[in-house]
Amino acid sequence: MTTEETQPNPSVRSLDTSIVTCVVPAYNEHDNLSLLLPTLQAMLTAACPNWEIIVVDDGSKDKTADLMLVWSKNPGFRYVQLSRNFGKEPAITAGLEAARGDLVLILDADLQHPPELIPSMLQRWVAGRDMVYAVREHRDDESWGKRHGSKWFYRLLSISGDVDVPSDAGDFRLMDRKVVDALLRLPERNRFMKGLYAWVGFDSEAIPYTPASRQHGESRFNAFKLFSLALAGLTAFTTWPLRVLSLVGFFVSICSFSYGIYIIFEDWFFGNPVSGWPTIVTILCFFSGLNMLALGIVGEYIAGIFKEVKGRPLYLVKRDQGDIYRRDPSSD
Ligand code: UDP
Ligand code: MG
Repeated sequence: MTTEETQPNPSVRSLDTSIVTCVVPAYNEHDNLSLLLPTLQAMLTAACPNWEIIVVDDGSKDKTADLMLVWSKNPGFRYVQLSRNFGKEPAITAGLEAARGDLVLILDADLQHPPELIPSMLQRWVAGRDMVYAVREHRDDESWGKRHGSKWFYRLLSISGDVDVPSDAGDFRLMDRKVVDALLRLPERNRFMKGLYAWVGFDSEAIPYTPASRQHGESRFNAFKLFSLALAGLTAFTTWPLRVLSLVGFFVSICSFSYGIYIIFEDWFFGNPVSGWPTIVTILCFFSGLNMLALGIVGEYIAGIFKEVKGRPLYLVKRDQGDIYRRDPSSD
């Protein structure tokens, strides 16, 4: 027998010897979690022997904590409670940092991400994919404004061409440990996760799914929050708006200079009838508007830098309890 035959091959992926971590960010999701956790528990138990479920409570004000204090006594459940509401993206990062798994799955608490998809995601990982992400088949459940807003956002984001962010994919995805480690190495405070998933690269595959409707409660992402998220994403992943500003500035200067020369010659040859205040007022208003817009765009980038240089922690943990992970005793 050769040494190769006796040694387990680390490149062969097996769910029997790997630990699967499931990260669930939750903000005021008591009712949804009471439905999701039993389903997830059954699904994971059937799919693999070693798993853990980490619920990251993003400062919920409902009875999530009471529910999780009970659930975290069960083997395989871990409850990480943040000190306040930090937002979904820091909550996901907290979950990724707590995760001990060889592969990590992220899904929403509101049952919009169907747990039935998990076995096929796991199979794709076994087949060699490092990242398996779920892509919405359609956005018919969303309003006209949200659908078109996100279409434009992804169009603007793709102009820079550095990273290709898939437009209908969200946080519902399975990642190999090396992808998780790569994500955790990225030091930025502005965690626009969809951009970061794309930035780290690796071997990825999309699985189509139809999002279910939210079981209880309402989405936390209203139009204003989505707009802020879009701005944060654009300023973190593009610099072309600054380049466009320089080009517009250059073009406007050339036009003004040419117009100045034209006025001087007009005055020389035809005299100056002192008229045209509507033109002056219009031009003045237009350019003050343009100036303000330019300052605003530059300000967005500076605000991004300000956030980064402060270097504050992304989140603070108030309570962390429960099982680290549930290892099937028969596999030892
Ligand atoms: N979420 C969170 N912190 C927040 C807002 C949302 O952890 O500040 C969680 C929320 O509990 C849910 C997931 O992120 O599990 C998605 O949130 P939501 O359903 O409101 O967003 P949508 O599905 O509309 O994108
Ligand atoms: Mg939702």
